Amino acid sequence: MSESASPSRAAVAAKIAANPSGYKVCEGCDSIVGSGVALCPNCHSYRFDTTSERVVSQAKVLGSREQTSVTADDLG
Ligand SMILES: [Zn+2]
Repeated sequence: MSESASPSRAAVAAKIAANPSGYKVCEGCDSIVGSGVALCPNCHSYRFDTTSERVVSQAKVLGSREQTSVTADDLG
């Protein structure tokens, strides 16, 4: 899998951390999704943590790990 076609995870994480109110964290799989998402696209959970603290914390995890996914469509 090439990473050259998409922004670096660190850049995405920084973008999320700068605007945590636009995102929320899935309680089922810890993915960061857009605040308007009703169901997690990864695990179909409907429970989310919308607190800025949690979003920023998870964004930092995202920036430092490879495994946590983000739905690119929601980052625009
Ligand atoms: Zn999920």
